[in-house]
Amino acid sequence: MTTRVHLTVDTEFSIAGAFREPQTHRPVGPPSVYCHRDGRSEGLGYLLDTLDRYAVRATFFVETLNTTYFGDEPMGEIAHEIAGRGHDVQLHLHPCWTYFGHPDWAQRLQSDPPNDNVTRRSVEELADLIEQGRATFRRWGLDAPSVLRTGGLKVDLKVYAAMRQAGLPRASNIGLAIYPPAEPELQLRGGCHVIDGVLEFPVTTYTDFQWGPRAHLKSLTITGTSWPEMRRLLFQARRQGLSDVVVLTHPFEFVRYRDDQPTPGINPLTRRRLERLCRFLKTEPGFSPACMADVLATPAPREATPMLTVPAAQAALRALENWTSQRVFWG
Ligand SMILES: [Zn+2]
Repeated sequence: MTTRVHLTVDTEFSIAGAFREPQTHRPVGPPSVYCHRDGRSEGLGYLLDTLDRYAVRATFFVETLNTTYFGDEPMGEIAHEIAGRGHDVQLHLHPCWTYFGHPDWAQRLQSDPPNDNVTRRSVEELADLIEQGRATFRRWGLDAPSVLRTGGLKVDLKVYAAMRQAGLPRASNIGLAIYPPAEPELQLRGGCHVIDGVLEFPVTTYTDFQWGPRAHLKSLTITGTSWPEMRRLLFQARRQGLSDVVVLTHPFEFVRYRDDQPTPGINPLTRRRLERLCRFLKTEPGFSPACMADVLATPAPREATPMLTVPAAQAALRALENWTSQRVFWG
């Protein structure tokens, strides 16, 4: 059996400081996904072209609650473009966007601030947010989503109860280094697992540094993981029999920013990592690019997840690589 590698792309608009400084800032829609530089889409456009070039199919978690602010059209067009290029379009939910449902949102910020944390919502509220997301897919005329990724990978057991209630069968809500859930059942570092009847594919977590009994955790991401680390982790996952490896990225990671403001540049470091990963998936036997919605196998009741590791020296090299890339950009 091959090791399934899921390239997952969180596709979302930006609040862009509107909650912090409502007088002067407003959310940013399509430009935060397309990331045009010199008239070319160097975010989503670059990503779709690269995936095409290597014939890698990815899962795009498309955020739907932004429709409260932007209406259906801006993200609907993006979702159609992604689906039209043959990728899997699934559901991403950032509940903070529902705050714009208050006509007086700018005045409310002081007394009743927004929160984006799904764990602070009841099962009924969560099931309602999922239903809103599905209704948005219906209005867009796209296939109903079957996989959920919660905003910021925030998660607790209530999310799975809500998914079960709403009839949504798959998830990729866990990424321990990004958000550590409270419940012991959710401390999952990779593979695929059944939680309350839902099939969960956690973003792969590894460790790059051990401090006595404590392991420093990292998520497998294009921005945070160097190619030598990624390659080592993929072979380790295969040797240890991990069924699924999940990599996280966003369209805006392929351009550069300075103080949150777009700059003219593209990001050669993240591009190199993505392209090496795509080439690896195309050529390396034993690995196959996969989409969660297509996985039919049911895992063993508790698939043991090995701890994937990279040596501290390799992590230090990556830190240097990331730092140097930023220096070039700032310089
Ligand atoms: Zn997100």
